[in-house]
Amino acid sequence: MTRGPIDLHTHSSVSDGTETPTQLIRAAIEAGLDTVAITDHDSTAGWDEALTAAAGSGLQVIRGIELSTRHEWRSVHVLGYLFDPNDTAIVRETARTRDDRLNRAERMVARLSEDYDVTWDDVLAQSGGVSIGRPHIADALVARGIVPNRSAAFESILHFSGGYYLPHEAPTVLDGVRMIAEAGGAPVLAHPATRGREAVVDGESLARLVEAGLVGLEVGHRENTPDGRERLVELAARFDLVMTGSSDYHGEGKPNRLAENTTTPEAFERLIGATRGVPPVRA
Ligand code: AMP
Ligand code: ZN
Ligand code: FE
Ligand code: FE
Repeated sequence: MTRGPIDLHTHSSVSDGTETPTQLIRAAIEAGLDTVAITDHDSTAGWDEALTAAAGSGLQVIRGIELSTRHEWRSVHVLGYLFDPNDTAIVRETARTRDDRLNRAERMVARLSEDYDVTWDDVLAQSGGVSIGRPHIADALVARGIVPNRSAAFESILHFSGGYYLPHEAPTVLDGVRMIAEAGGAPVLAHPATRGREAVVDGESLARLVEAGLVGLEVGHRENTPDGRERLVELAARFDLVMTGSSDYHGEGKPNRLAENTTTPEAFERLIGATRGVPPVRA
């Protein structure tokens, strides 16, 4: 039985959220959530702290991740739920992605420092040290007074076409989905329709992802366009996929608020029914 909203996509300071896993869990309790998933970018390092923080609260915690992957030249995010965190492929590939994120951020900052008064140490000071990304570079630019906030940094200096952007290595979306499924988890495509009717993957690619074990599509997300959502609903019906909805909360790092999009109890039950890695925890 659920007693409140189910929110399956949030970030802590292990990646680019502004709140520690403990603060994130407190915020979830405060917001009256029944269930929250902690899904840091390319890391499971926040899992244990989140479970400890939730103990005795009645909040259900879903251990998850948001994997950085690629489809052709596009960056695609894959949410993974309740997989075995010690699975060798997961451990190896997420370590590789985090390493390359670090290397890429350092190279971006080297380019930035030619034009702006910002150093690599400024960026390190903004990161939790586990999974580093553009948001931490943005925070360093904010701290230096170069831009007013993260969003402004993303719209200008850190934008894909802003002149400083560099890509990082990541597995293909097919490998990412397969990896989560093989580790006993449920893979879900994160915000797959941020660019209008043309979803991030076409029907043909989606068929291959379903074959590889894809379980769901994140339909309810503020960055999916209205047209895109319609298309996702069609695709979910065609491939019998679970539809989720989530906030993608980053604390103060993004305007997204907990439970601004939610997942129905029925969809949630189907999702966890597809997992055999680690269990949901309600302590
Ligand atoms: P990266 O993976 O390092 O290229 O950075 C992309 C990440 O930055 C995304 O996964 C988001 O979590 C975050 N992000 C993207 N746009 C914004 C924004 N406008 N404001 C704050 N964070 C953002
Ligand atoms: Zn993020
Ligand atoms: Fe994402
Ligand atoms: Fe996210």
